[in-house]
Amino acid sequence: MTTLPFDPLRATFGDRLLTAGAEISRFGRDAISEEGYGGTPDAVVYPESTDEVVELVNFARERVIPLVPRGGGSGLSGGAVPVAGGIVVAMERMNRVIEIDTANLVAVLEPGVVTKALDSMLEPHGLFFAGYPMSEEICQIGGNVAENAGGGRAVKYGVTGDYVLGLEVVTAAGTVLRLGGRRVKDVTGYDLIGLFVGSEGTLGIVTQVTLRLLPRPAARAVALGFLTDESRLAEVTPALLALPARPSAVEFADAACMRLLSSLSAQWRWIPSGAAMLLVEFDGSDANRVASERDEAAALLKSHGVVEVSRSGTEADYEKLWLLRKQVPWALMKKSPHQTMEDITVPVAGTWPLIAGTRETSRRRGVEIANFGHLGDGNIHVTPLKPDGLDVGRWHEELPDLQTELYRLAASLGGTISGEHGIGHKRRAFLPLVLGEAELETMRAVKQALDPLGIMNPGKAV
Ligand SMILES: Cc1cc2nc3c(=O)[nH]c(=O)nc-3n(C[C@H](O)[C@H](O)[C@H](O)COP(=O)(O)OP(=O)(O)OC[C@H]3O[C@@H](n4cnc5c(N)ncnc54)[C@H](O)[C@@H]3O)c2cc1C
Repeated sequence: MTTLPFDPLRATFGDRLLTAGAEISRFGRDAISEEGYGGTPDAVVYPESTDEVVELVNFARERVIPLVPRGGGSGLSGGAVPVAGGIVVAMERMNRVIEIDTANLVAVLEPGVVTKALDSMLEPHGLFFAGYPMSEEICQIGGNVAENAGGGRAVKYGVTGDYVLGLEVVTAAGTVLRLGGRRVKDVTGYDLIGLFVGSEGTLGIVTQVTLRLLPRPAARAVALGFLTDESRLAEVTPALLALPARPSAVEFADAACMRLLSSLSAQWRWIPSGAAMLLVEFDGSDANRVASERDEAAALLKSHGVVEVSRSGTEADYEKLWLLRKQVPWALMKKSPHQTMEDITVPVAGTWPLIAGTRETSRRRGVEIANFGHLGDGNIHVTPLKPDGLDVGRWHEELPDLQTELYRLAASLGGTISGEHGIGHKRRAFLPLVLGEAELETMRAVKQALDPLGIMNPGKAV
């Protein structure tokens, strides 16, 4: 009988080491719908402590085996996919909330805590973690840190990295770094937390996170409207952001997304045809004030040609209005798994020129391109869909050229190729379109210094 190279891990990990079987296959993909972005793990390990992660890293380093950290697998850039094989490090059992420190307004937690589960634990304390992404039901805090995720409320609250006060990270050398703490201010040396946040598991494995918390807004108010002339986004977006009260969300989905939703389910048949959706939300401690801020925004939208259809009164109304926006990526995945959900981000005034540019690309190439996303921070999920008659193989052949055109368009508007989903292996080859050789070389030097053998999530980000 041949000895598997992973057998020495059995003593520590027992049945938390998988080397075959049906369960292992789910670790070959993340949430990208196209199969071509998958990989094949040689093994999956579920560590339960920092010491176990150190043991695993030392094992992998001695044998030069790739390690691929994995959170909820909701990533949209192939970041958690083992493209070079090796061991997937599934963090889901490191899921303890170690402390909710209400005196310092911080939470100390392991990386495998599901983002929504953290929110449920914070709610009774009247607190929340404001940097969460819209995939909160599935993603984990470690994944949010590794991607520097940000969601529908980034326009007011910023992104995950704005809330990370402390990190524990196991590097490729097997060293445990304990960075930051519960301090709001800290300029002691290089910003190593900033280096690890958004590093997509390529520099180390996050084993503990200290997050800054905010008082939970007691009230929210939402207005939902539809815009037939989408070119008016050019004036609507800056006008909304110039309001005296900062909206907590300014979300958008174009007429193609709305048409799709209304064709998929009877519950969406009321959506006006040929119009894009705009959702604007305000939050705060005073319900009357928040409602009047929302009303002011609704009046502004109306003056720019937006036909308002609904306002939230209760939490339930509010959830119903948001559902329309949250269903869009799932509807697009249902329409066609052969698509590329992009994550282009431009300066906010560039969002309409970006969308208009994608329309031009769509017409010229005969490819439907849906646009939706976080209008308030210029982050649009430009999503080309495979034309019905086009062979899948041909679609894949033509995709890099289409992506290049879209990324060049983003760059021409002062934008870049990812605002929140990351580079992963999906966008790695395209980095030179938006980063110069000096910047890329600096990133490679950082990677080389921290991971000279290249075992940490190879083939991603850099
Ligand atoms: C429907 C839908 C909506 C989404 N909405 C948003 C959104 O609003 N905003 C947004 O930013 N993203 C969004 N995403 C993308 C995704 O959910 C986020 O990037 C999320 O933060 C990934 O977390 P995860 O735990 O699923 O990570 P994974 O997908 O498991 O991994 C992502 C990356 O993090 C690394 N990683 C994971 N855990 C660790 C760890 N402990 N240490 C080191 N590296 C680690 C992985 O190696 C990989 O590179 C959405 C995805 C879907 C499917």
